[in-house]
Amino acid sequence: MRFMDDSIVKGTVVNDRLVKEGEEVLYKTYNRFPVVFDHADGVYLFDEGDNRYLDFGAGIAVCGLGYKNLLIQDAMVSQIEKGLLHTSNLFYNEPAIEAGEKLLKASEMDKVFFTNSGTEAIEGALKIARRYQFNKGKPGCEIIAMKDSFHGRSVGALSVTGNQHYQEPFAPLMPGIKFATFNDLDSVKALVNANTGAIIMETIQGEGGIYPATEEFIKGVRALCDEHDMLLILDEIQCGMGRSGRMFAWQRYGVKPDVMTVAKALGNGVPIGAFLACGEAASAMKPGDHGSTYGGNPFVCSVASAVLDVFKEAEIPQHAELMGGYLDEKLEDLKEKYPSLIADHRGVGLIQGLEFKEGVDVGKIVSDCLTKEHLILISALHNTIRFVPPLVIEKTHIDEMTARLDRVLGSL
Ligand SMILES: *Cc1c(COP(=O)(O)O)cnc(C)c1O
Repeated sequence: MRFMDDSIVKGTVVNDRLVKEGEEVLYKTYNRFPVVFDHADGVYLFDEGDNRYLDFGAGIAVCGLGYKNLLIQDAMVSQIEKGLLHTSNLFYNEPAIEAGEKLLKASEMDKVFFTNSGTEAIEGALKIARRYQFNKGKPGCEIIAMKDSFHGRSVGALSVTGNQHYQEPFAPLMPGIKFATFNDLDSVKALVNANTGAIIMETIQGEGGIYPATEEFIKGVRALCDEHDMLLILDEIQCGMGRSGRMFAWQRYGVKPDVMTVAKALGNGVPIGAFLACGEAASAMKPGDHGSTYGGNPFVCSVASAVLDVFKEAEIPQHAELMGGYLDEKLEDLKEKYPSLIADHRGVGLIQGLEFKEGVDVGKIVSDCLTKEHLILISALHNTIRFVPPLVIEKTHIDEMTARLDRVLGSL
C-alpha cells in the first residue's frame, strides 16, 4: 500500500472547500475548473496540495514574463514602499510618464491613455473614432467590425464583438456597427459608405480561434481606411506585447494602425490596459472627453514600466519568435500523428491553435490535461486549443507540454 503525502490530502481538502465556497459566493458567469492555485514560480503554478502544473495559458495570455520575475517583484515592492499606489489623474505621476514613454517608443505611436482593462481600452478607441469623425463634421459615424471577433464585455466593446451568443441577451447595443468577414476584403468594401468612420479588428483573432490576418487583407484594410479617411483600430490586447514574435503583431505586416489597444501582458498580472493613437487621431479627444479614476495609477504603471524594460533587455519578442518556431514544429508533429482528431494548426510565435475535428470533445481534452497531466491549456471556441504560454518558456517546457498532451490525445 502507498502512503499518501499528508500535505496533499490536506491540500485536497482545502481545495474542495474553496471550490464549494467559491460556488456560493462568486457571481456565476464562469464555468470554472475545480482547481485552486496557491502559488507560482517561473512557468509553473502550484495548487493547494502543492501539485505542480505546467502553464500554457498564462492566465489567458497575461503573464508573459511568467511568475515571480525578480525585476517585476522589485518594481512592485519599491512602489509599495514609497506608499504611493494611487494619486488620481488630477496629478501627473512619474511611473505613468515612464511607462508611457516606453510604450510609445515600442509602438511608434504618439499618445497613450492608460486604462484598467482591455475592454476599457476598446471603449476609448471607439470614442476616438466617433470623436475624430465628429470633429470632421461626420457625427455618429458607422464602425465596421469583424465576425468572430472578440473585443471585451463592456457594452461598447460587446457591440463590436462579432458573436451573437455574447450579444443577444444584452441587445440593443451601441448602434452603427456593421460586421464584415475577417480576411475577406470584399466583405469590408461592401460595407463602406459615406458615413463609415472606422474599422476595428484584431491583428490575430484570439478568442475566435487563432486566425492571423492575411497580409493582403490587413494591407487592403489599411488602404481602404486611407482612401476614405477612416481610422484603423487594431486590437492587440491578446496578440500584442511580444506574443506574435514582434512587440506588436501589426509590425509583422508593415502596416500601422491609427489607434491600437493593449492590455493583457502589459501588466504581467496587475490590471492595466491602454489605448494609443498616432497622427490626427492622437489629438481628436479634448480635455473632459474621457477619464478614469484608477487608470494609469503609479502602482500599475511602475509594474508596466518594469515589464517594458524586461521586454527590451531580455529581447522577449525575439525569444517568442524562436520558441514559436519550435512550438510550431511540435504541433505539426501532433497534427500528423493524430489526423483523425486534428483538423488544422494555425498561428505565429507563441499564439497558436490546434483546431479539432467535428465531434472531438475539446473540453474533455483540456480538462484531462489539467487533472491527469497537470498541464494548463485553454480553448478558443468549442473546437480549438489555444497555446498562449508565458513568453519566457524554453524548449524543454514545449517538449514537456507536447508529451503530456500526446498522452491525453493517445488515450482518446
Ligand atoms: C481579452 C481581450 C479583450 C478584453 O480584455 P479584458 O481585459 O478582459 O477586458 C479585448 N480584446 C481582445 C483581443 C482580447 O483578447
